[in-house]
Amino acid sequence: MRCNRGVPFFWRLAQVSEMPEGPTVRRFCSLVSPFVGQQVVKVGGSTKQIALQDLMGQWIQDCQVHGKNIYVAFGGSVTPEATAEKSEEKILNDDPPSEATTTPPPDLSSLQNEEENPRRKWLRFHFGLYGSIRVNEFARAKQGNKRGDWKDPTPRLILHFSAGGFVVFYNCRILWCSSPDVEPTCDILSPEFDKEKALRALSAPRPVCIILMDQRHFSGVGNIIKNEILFLAGVHPLSLGSLLPVETLRALIDHAVSFTGEWLQSKTRGKPQHYHIYMKEYCHMGHEVVKESIGPPLGLKRLTWYCPTCQELVQRKEQE
Ligand SMILES: [Zn+2]
Repeated sequence: MRCNRGVPFFWRLAQVSEMPEGPTVRRFCSLVSPFVGQQVVKVGGSTKQIALQDLMGQWIQDCQVHGKNIYVAFGGSVTPEATAEKSEEKILNDDPPSEATTTPPPDLSSLQNEEENPRRKWLRFHFGLYGSIRVNEFARAKQGNKRGDWKDPTPRLILHFSAGGFVVFYNCRILWCSSPDVEPTCDILSPEFDKEKALRALSAPRPVCIILMDQRHFSGVGNIIKNEILFLAGVHPLSLGSLLPVETLRALIDHAVSFTGEWLQSKTRGKPQHYHIYMKEYCHMGHEVVKESIGPPLGLKRLTWYCPTCQELVQRKEQE
C-alpha cells in the first residue's frame, strides 16, 4: 500500500508533474515557430514580469530553443520573404536532430546584428511546474482544487496575431534579454552537444544525480531524464562521478543523448514516453524501487527513483 502522508504537498504534486524538460520545451518551440513572421495585434495574460503593451504591433522574428528555455525575438518589422521561408523550414525540420531550432540559419545572421536591427529584442521563457504552451486554445482544469472547484489555469501571456491565431503561455518566467544565452555544446538535444566536455563535468567528485541536473553542463536534462538514464546505465544516483569508471560515465552520457532523442520523437508523434524507473514501484527485474529526495546541500531536492540492486553504489575503497 502506498501512503503519501508526511510527504510535503509540493512533492505530492511533483509525483504527477515535473517541470518540462528538453524534449517537451523543444516541442513547445515547434508550436511557436509557425508564428514567426506574424504581427502581434492583441496581448493579454497575468504576467507582471514584462509590460504587455511593449509587445503590441511587434513582429515575431525568430524562435529558438536552448536547453529548457525558449527564446522568441520581437522586432518592429520583418523581411517577409526571408521569414516565410524560415518558418517553413522550421516546420519541415521538426524531427530531431533539428538544427533549425538550435542554429540560426545563415540568412538571419544580418538580422541578429544589433546595428542593422537595433529594435530586435528577445523574450526568454522558462517553464515551471505545469508550464506549457497552447495554440488556438486554452488549457482546461484537469482536476478540482481542495474545495472541489474546477478552475482553469491562468494564462501568463496570450499573443494574438494578425493572421487570426493565438498562442498562450502558462506558468513560465518571462524575461527580456539582449540575445539567447546559447551554449549548444552543453545542450543535450543539440547536434553540437560535446560528449567529451560532458565527460569532464561528470568526472567531478560530486553525486552524479546532482551533476546531471546542472544546466551549465547538461542543459535540457530534468528530473525524469536523470532518473531514467541513471537506471539505464546501472548507476546509483549518489555515486561520485570521480569514482566511476570512464566507460560507465560514457555509457551514462550515451543514454542521456539517446533517451532524450527518443523522448523528443515520441513527443513529435504525440505518443507517451515509456519510463523504466520513474514513478515505478518495481524495476523490470522485480526489485523494489527506492524513492528518495536528493539534491545539493543548499539547493532544491528532487525525488529520485532507483533500484538499489540494479544500481549499485560505488564507494571509495578503504585506504590500506
Ligand atoms: Zn532492479
